[in-house]
Amino acid sequence: MIRTRFAPSPNGPLHLGHAYAAVVAHDLARARGGEFLLRIEDIDGERSRAEFVEEFFLDLAWLGLAWDGEAGFQSRHLTSYVDAGERLKAMGLLYPCRCTRAEIAAAATQMGPDGPVYPGTCRHRPGTSESVDPEGAAWRLDVARAVKMTGPLEWTDELAGPQHATPEIFGDVVLLRKDLPASYHLAATLDDAADGITLVTRGMDLFPASHVHRLLQALLGLPVPVWHHHPLLVEPDGRKLAKRRGSPSLGDRRRAGEDGKAIAEALRQHRFPAGISLSESLHQSP
Ligand code: GLU
Repeated sequence: MIRTRFAPSPNGPLHLGHAYAAVVAHDLARARGGEFLLRIEDIDGERSRAEFVEEFFLDLAWLGLAWDGEAGFQSRHLTSYVDAGERLKAMGLLYPCRCTRAEIAAAATQMGPDGPVYPGTCRHRPGTSESVDPEGAAWRLDVARAVKMTGPLEWTDELAGPQHATPEIFGDVVLLRKDLPASYHLAATLDDAADGITLVTRGMDLFPASHVHRLLQALLGLPVPVWHHHPLLVEPDGRKLAKRRGSPSLGDRRRAGEDGKAIAEALRQHRFPAGISLSESLHQSP
């Protein structure tokens, strides 16, 4: 049975782009007789706020999107992230790193999907005098070593077709943040597996992240879903909608008396407010 999820982070209100993502996840599940789950990605306790979660529930109900079962909360799964981190450490695949953003930017020679690619400064520190004190460090995945262990990996996006996994485009990603027991990559991959998600739907801005998630699935022996990275709602300049650029939140629209179900229907039919359109689809060759 197909199972999808909508996985917002409660660090700000939802806007029309989120509504589109939720409609896609909901409708793909319902059209195929499957389930649609809601997962609150509140692992970052500093930035997550309970009042946004309350708003999410109201916004989804107003849009007419009912989810199956209870909403999941990442903050309740921290031990599973810690356990997976320990397993990866025991496999010799993680190393501690205390480099600052500025140090990385200064030493990087390549750009990746999330900015400067970490140049591997802490990967092979010789001798104990120079070794990184793991206390308060972030833990990075030695991607080259991991890829050697798994061999070539493939994954499938429903829209873009079959893909060869190329997690190395990110460099050695952080899997355990210094302030948290996981990063987005680790937490999302573990939760999708734990929740039995068979079709991971999300915006195509996260397409590259799936290369890393596929690698983590292979390392941790997790089931491999199919992905569906949908186009994003963009402003006339091609940038994705954001509250800070004046895109009204769903809560604002709801309180102003707009009809949420009509908005969801318009999104389904690709009728968008003036100036807003869907980004081009991804057509990546395998
Ligand atoms: N929490 C992420 C976000 O709000 C979504 C992650 C995902 O769908 O994998 O952008």
